[in-house]
Amino acid sequence: MPTGSEKSAFDPVRDVRILREPTVYVVGRQTVDLAEIDRFLADHEVGSWQTDTEVAAEHLTEVAGRLCYLSFARPRPGGNETYLKHILEVGHGSVLEHAVWNLLIVGVSRSLTHELIRHRVGMSPSQLSQRYVDESVAEYVEPDVIAEDPELHRIWLDAVAISHRAYLELVERLLEKYKDEPDRTLRRKMARQAARSVLPNATETKIFITANARALRNFIELRASRHAEVEIRKLAVKVLRLMQNEAPHIFSDYQLTELPDGTFEATTPHRKV
Ligand SMILES: Cc1cc2nc3c(=O)[nH]c(=O)nc-3n(C[C@H](O)[C@H](O)[C@H](O)COP(=O)(O)OP(=O)(O)OC[C@H]3O[C@@H](n4cnc5c(N)ncnc54)[C@H](O)[C@@H]3O)c2cc1C
Repeated sequence: MPTGSEKSAFDPVRDVRILREPTVYVVGRQTVDLAEIDRFLADHEVGSWQTDTEVAAEHLTEVAGRLCYLSFARPRPGGNETYLKHILEVGHGSVLEHAVWNLLIVGVSRSLTHELIRHRVGMSPSQLSQRYVDESVAEYVEPDVIAEDPELHRIWLDAVAISHRAYLELVERLLEKYKDEPDRTLRRKMARQAARSVLPNATETKIFITANARALRNFIELRASRHAEVEIRKLAVKVLRLMQNEAPHIFSDYQLTELPDGTFEATTPHRKV
């Protein structure tokens, strides 16, 4: 194993892994306990009700909505789709808070997650720690407009390389500075938490989000808008497409329109339900 000066020098062209697209893993979704719903209906003599959706999130939001008016006995025709469409039309958005997903998002920059965590309501984040996790693997998110221009790309890569080299050197020297600290984990944390100050906004990060449908809708409306920054807009459009597949009765009112730069914008007649 190479040590000290034998270590091969950091070469940005070879060693920087450039990312341009976020990846979203839908790692969790709800399930319905049908027996418990039936038990509730029987206990309260509110009729024998069934829905026609197989999507738990749609099922549970309908139960929550129907509970408000105890409207299980004689539902209007049209099934779950019509019911949730009405919820969107009248803006009874609080029932959408009962639909929840767990999303694992990777390949995004720290500048994106700084914007993402501004969504305070109904969206809970857990993010990779730069204090505990080593950032010496060079993964950076490059904006499309820079990546597509060779001269801008060169300037960007040079800047990333300078920061990355500084990070590596600072970690090494800080570990030396803290060498008397017997706790290895603490020693590394102290070194990394100071060294990370030179890492750029482009640094790749990973974030786990638990969000309800109402919060996701607000996120999509604000961030899949033409006014949003491109990277987070791409993420918001990706999340929308996944959600339209997950729960079409809650998310199918959005239209996607292509913008001049080839990215997409989402719009809906039912903003901020
Ligand atoms: C294009 C764009 C540009 C932006 N530029 C900037 C910028 O320059 N600087 C900056 O700081 N931020 C900026 N933001 C972030 C923005 O101000 C919001 O913080 C972010 O979009 C989250 O929106 P939100 O507050 O609706 O979401 P959430 O925090 O999830 O809140 C959801 C909703 O709950 C309600 N709510 C939440 N908190 C409160 C409260 N305390 N009191 C009353 N009601 C509440 C509101 O109705 C709110 O819309 C920008 C956002 C966008 C989309």
